[in-house]
Amino acid sequence: MTTTESTTAQSFADLGLSASLLKTLSDIGYESPSPIQAECIPILLQGRDLIGQAQTGTGKTAAFALPLMEQIDVKLTKPQALVLTPTRELAIQVAEALQSYAKNLPGFHVLPIYGGQSYTIQLKQLSRGAHIIVGTPGRVMDHLERKTLNLDNLKTLVLDEADEMLRMGFIDDVEWILERTPATHQTALFSATMPEQIRRVAQKYLVEPREIKIKSATSTVEAIRQVYWQVSGMHKLDALTRILEVEKDFDAAIIFVRTKNATVELADKLAARGYAAAALNGDLNQQMRERVIDQLKSGALDIVIATDVAARGIDVPRVSHVVNYDIPYDTEAYVHRIGRTGRAGRTGNAILFVAPREIRMLRTIERATRSPIAPLTLPSRADVTNKRVADFKEKVAEVLNAEGLDFFSNIVSQISEEHDVGVEEVAAALCMLAQESKPLQIAGEDPAPARAYPAASDSRRPAAFGERDRKPREERSERPRFEDRGDKPRFEERSDKPRFEDRGERPRREERPTRSAPTGDMVRYRIDVGRDHGVQVKDIVGAIANEAGIESRFIGRIALYDESSTVELPAGMPKEADNALKRTRVRGVPINLRPDEGRPDGDDRGNFKKRKFGDR
Ligand code: ADP
Ligand code: MG
Repeated sequence: MTTTESTTAQSFADLGLSASLLKTLSDIGYESPSPIQAECIPILLQGRDLIGQAQTGTGKTAAFALPLMEQIDVKLTKPQALVLTPTRELAIQVAEALQSYAKNLPGFHVLPIYGGQSYTIQLKQLSRGAHIIVGTPGRVMDHLERKTLNLDNLKTLVLDEADEMLRMGFIDDVEWILERTPATHQTALFSATMPEQIRRVAQKYLVEPREIKIKSATSTVEAIRQVYWQVSGMHKLDALTRILEVEKDFDAAIIFVRTKNATVELADKLAARGYAAAALNGDLNQQMRERVIDQLKSGALDIVIATDVAARGIDVPRVSHVVNYDIPYDTEAYVHRIGRTGRAGRTGNAILFVAPREIRMLRTIERATRSPIAPLTLPSRADVTNKRVADFKEKVAEVLNAEGLDFFSNIVSQISEEHDVGVEEVAAALCMLAQESKPLQIAGEDPAPARAYPAASDSRRPAAFGERDRKPREERSERPRFEDRGDKPRFEERSDKPRFEDRGERPRREERPTRSAPTGDMVRYRIDVGRDHGVQVKDIVGAIANEAGIESRFIGRIALYDESSTVELPAGMPKEADNALKRTRVRGVPINLRPDEGRPDGDDRGNFKKRKFGDR
């Protein structure tokens, strides 16, 4: 067994992947492998067993998914690989990743199977034949027992997020499955941590595994102000522009994202908001790259959105800010990124966006760089307005000293006389005119301040949010089942087998026979699916009820617009529900739920459909 320190990025081509897969990666916008990918892919391609340990968000999925893709014989429509994941969300996520890597592999089929999903549908899909199965342990076990899943052709088994499976109590199920898979297959185990029990399972079932552990080296950072913003309640893009606008001493910024495509996307969006921004990625040839950097130096550009590779070694003294829009894979990348600011004796600022699931990476970075990273309070609308007003005043003050004001003073006097208004009013009107192209006040509202909602133990807590049902099964089965209502394929069908109850794969809801309109405070949210996506109200109700465990009767009015919709949900949504909804998709489109900030972009043609409760 060997343990490997994080190495500097190679290229995907060095790892032995096929040309067709390399093309796919380039299409997706992956520029270079992450450290865990660089280490694991060659080993897995050799067919060896592997234990891969690296933190969340370091790209473990592609580390096993890409070698899997190389193995699949599309002509053989039998499961050739099985990936076990702890939760249904992860099963779906991994299946989606696999599907995206199969872009240039016509006929490839991956099937996610998980608890809570209808057996009928799963059986149909299984019988159609899939090349890779991604599933939660309980449901996979069940299909193996029913002999509806046959693993005779299995070449590789992957245990993804093994520590999480242990934590959720699935380890016995995992062993049960491992015992029933063909003796000769490759096994890969991925985990963020390596508890003793996982190590024991690895020793028992893996054959001479190579062990790859990505450790982050420690290094010190120069005097750079480091802050982070925990992503919540607002789009990263909106947060970014607010922050940049209010940041003191802002001159120029390099913004780091993970993919080439993201560099272009973000550059376009920032340009549309009036920033002088451009993308810097590995698709640009040397000459174009140099041009972008020269423009940043000269001030023709203020913002460059870059991938790690493309930004290597950039030395532009006026870069006052580095924004880690996507968190880096490891501390080395972080240190390298923020080293692009604070150059030539100037002060630098490093801003890091951290999603809730990435908090651990934040702590690792703090430890490795031996410097605390302070939380950043998102500037409020008032903060932005104040800053804009201050800048505006400054501009006006400059003009006050300019020559040739007389001509304009004269016009002011004329307006004042002709309209019989004071000079102050005329000035106000002129201010209003002057700011038209860039309004001093920003539209919309601040995201609702984090509300204090009753703790889980508080009996006053509204029952709107489903918790795991801990009542014995007998009691539960008295209640109406979803199947009986025959209206919602997206709702869960409950298994008859008690084993699958309380697996903790998802929160359970209770359906009450009587429905009434929701009472209490409601908050309106905006979601990114609308009529253009072929979405209907019932799809939204289904998805929200299903994913966040909010009983459908607590879901308020839903208004469908062309490209988006609004939905009212009870105030004080617990974090888990909020997180679940952020990841929810309707008809394959991520809904991107966020508090509704009004409609600055004029999509107001929606006819407001009042939902009748109990009538979907
Ligand atoms: P982990 O399983 O280690 O938590 P994931 O596999 O979920 O991490 O990857 C995290 C994110 O990084 C995903 O959005 C994925 O698309 C992205 N990603 C992974 N590998 C690369 C790469 N080589 N280049 C760019 N983005 C990548
Ligand atoms: Mg993962």
